[in-house]
Amino acid sequence: MTLPDIAIVGAGITGCSAAYRLAKAGAKVTVIDSYGPAAMASGWTLAGVRQSGRDPAELPLAQRAVALWPDLEAELGAPTDYRRNGNLRLARTPAEVETIRQLVADQRALGLDLTFLDDIAAIREIAPAVSGDVLAASFCPTDGHADPVASVGAFVAAAERHGAVFRFGEKVEAVEVAGGRLQGLRTTAGRLPAGLCVLAPGIGINALLQPLGLTVPLRIPMVTVIQSVPLPPLLAPVLGVASADCAARQQVDGCLRVTSGAEAWHGEIGETEDGRPKVEPTTASVKRTIDLVGALLPDFAEARVRRIWAGLLDLTPDALPVIDFAPGIDGLIVAAGFSGHGFGIGPATGEMICDLALGRQSPLSREAFAFGRAALSAPAAEPAALTLHG
Ligand SMILES: Cc1cc2nc3c(=O)[nH]c(=O)nc-3n(C[C@H](O)[C@H](O)[C@H](O)COP(=O)(O)OP(=O)(O)OC[C@H]3O[C@@H](n4cnc5c(N)ncnc54)[C@H](O)[C@@H]3O)c2cc1C
Repeated sequence: MTLPDIAIVGAGITGCSAAYRLAKAGAKVTVIDSYGPAAMASGWTLAGVRQSGRDPAELPLAQRAVALWPDLEAELGAPTDYRRNGNLRLARTPAEVETIRQLVADQRALGLDLTFLDDIAAIREIAPAVSGDVLAASFCPTDGHADPVASVGAFVAAAERHGAVFRFGEKVEAVEVAGGRLQGLRTTAGRLPAGLCVLAPGIGINALLQPLGLTVPLRIPMVTVIQSVPLPPLLAPVLGVASADCAARQQVDGCLRVTSGAEAWHGEIGETEDGRPKVEPTTASVKRTIDLVGALLPDFAEARVRRIWAGLLDLTPDALPVIDFAPGIDGLIVAAGFSGHGFGIGPATGEMICDLALGRQSPLSREAFAFGRAALSAPAAEPAALTLHG
């Protein structure tokens, strides 16, 4: 079978894992990014790799990803810093205890290995540094975390070995369509003809779709991220909370990386000294995040800070992504709207996009990720906090 030339917009985890799968399958792949690999959400992220708290429709994708993560370093030939040390979701109030109890019941019914811990001694066996004020927790031992920049870099290097070409510092200005069929891309460097195109540009999706008369309804909130200097080992699992207003993990290099909940974005994106996109959090959010995480993890309140930044989420009304052909345009695939939890599933999302592009039957249902699903045209509701990032 002759494979079409494939253009991918976006070198985050979604675009790069798809590029790897497609190049490995023999397609001629070109990836274009305005900046470079992991320049936006895939670099700004907390980088938890989590099944617990997922929407039931997304759980099979998360479970497939968790099956792939342990072997990725060997397969891609580069480190990902993946660690399967679990996810501990904490309850600080009686109402949060009930939320966690319900989460455990619901997700155990779906077959997930999730335990309800209602005494602090059991919680501290898993994470001794957690505050004694915590009332209860869920624990999923097969969750974990990875290094986002290393993981995306590993996909880039492996895709390149299979012949994929990455063009960085080049912005895609338009998707060219004629007679209902994709023709290619117009970029700041000229035209790129393509038989098939995967749009994986994160929050940039509607700038490319709207001229074609299409939209993925999105809210774009901001999340504050604080990274400490390297500390001695004190936290093996990823920490979350029932209302998703903060999360934390300790990187392999010892730095704590902690996040706020989703907050209103002021609308500005600046640039770092090396020309990458930068979002600045507010002082109030930084303070709130330190207070919230410090109350759960007292060592964090005493730690010295290395870096502070913010990241943006592409939040759909039902907090599920779109992974589908764009309606009415032959050859155009949309993979966006990952709603603050697209990092952990990235390796499996790449497989799903590859199957879709090559016309293969995917072993996992894509129904909940359809472009035309009713939930996308419903008025934007506050998505269930448990499905959010962390
Ligand atoms: C603070 C924070 C914490 C998070 N925590 C978690 C977590 O713990 N676990 C989890 O699973 N997920 C988490 N997420 C979400 C996760 O990081 C994202 O869902 C995921 O990284 C999205 O990857 P992506 O490749 O789809 O998009 P992105 O990583 O945003 O990549 C899109 C790329 O497209 C490029 N681009 C955009 N428009 C154009 C254009 N016109 N031309 C060329 N290039 C373009 C951008 O430069 C960018 O590099 C978090 C996100 C944030 C911000």
